[in-house]
Amino acid sequence: MHLARFPRVRLVHAPTPLEFLPRLTEQLGGPRLYIKRDDCTGLATGGNKTRKLEFLLGDALAQGATHIVTHGATQSNHVRQTAAAAARLGLQCTALLEARIADGSVEYRNSGNVFLDRLFGARLEHRPAGLDMNAEVEQYAARLREQGEKAYAIPGGGSNHIGALGYVASAQEILQQADAAGIVVHHVVHATGSTGTQAGLVAGFQGSHSGVPVLGISVRAERAAQEDKVWQLASRTLQHLGVSAPLPREAVRANSDYVGAGYGRPTPEMVEALTLLARTEGILLDPVYSGKGFAGLLDLIRKGHFRQDENVVFVHTGGAVGLFGYRDTFDPLHAAA
Ligand SMILES: *Cc1c(COP(=O)(O)O)cnc(C)c1O
Repeated sequence: MHLARFPRVRLVHAPTPLEFLPRLTEQLGGPRLYIKRDDCTGLATGGNKTRKLEFLLGDALAQGATHIVTHGATQSNHVRQTAAAAARLGLQCTALLEARIADGSVEYRNSGNVFLDRLFGARLEHRPAGLDMNAEVEQYAARLREQGEKAYAIPGGGSNHIGALGYVASAQEILQQADAAGIVVHHVVHATGSTGTQAGLVAGFQGSHSGVPVLGISVRAERAAQEDKVWQLASRTLQHLGVSAPLPREAVRANSDYVGAGYGRPTPEMVEALTLLARTEGILLDPVYSGKGFAGLLDLIRKGHFRQDENVVFVHTGGAVGLFGYRDTFDPLHAAA
């Protein structure tokens, strides 16, 4: 797999650290827990979307684009990172924000990521929940083209075979770091949503025959649907990379037991996991993705899913800025006021 064949703009402060979590490992009595700090990708408070944007915006620039159009939920980390990357490259950015959580608080609608989207100069448009948002983005980009603009449409979460290359790069980075430090990676676990992260990781680990299994903790879709979507995109990504061997279905594993009431809806397990990591290791998770992903990992550890002497790498996909849109979830006094 030769990533230099694809257009790319450098945005990530790479390599992001691969850190051991000594206090939490001890408290849980194993497995040995490591964290891949993709919350520290550098741009605009970091996160996983910056890796995808290196290849998506590389492609956009190669096509002469001047205006980026994308979408996300109101508190989308993807939109925030896209807005910042566009600003950095001198491109215009329009984001369609889907009101996926209709009863969101004033802070949910204005603070956290939304505050930063505006600061980065993105044009924000609002859409009700339940539309085909990728189609909305395509339509919007087509209208801009009719007006003579060079528009480039990015799907939700930057999840297509181009964006997923960013997580092929991350898989390669994890293997290099683990090899250099002499750490055998027995499991990789992370939060999965629009599927580009898991598809890229699976393509990267499979394409390099590393044998590293990836478990995605779903934040939205049920298991069979999520696994199918990840498999489709990972297969498409491998094809794009010129790897012809078919991807085994078993290479894609998702778990949807930690979604709770739905996308972006806090769960008590998420609050517990987020608070535990903050207080044992000083690391911030986010309420929508990495908090639920880590809650799933903790529950699986407590149920004995991993051997004590195994090394488990949690990929921290970022998003802590979203906490400011969820202050009432963590601050009962504030909620009561
Ligand atoms: C988007 C996002 C994810 C999920 O990644 P996908 O590639 O969409 O599956 C996980 N964590 C955070 C913080 C995100 O913003």
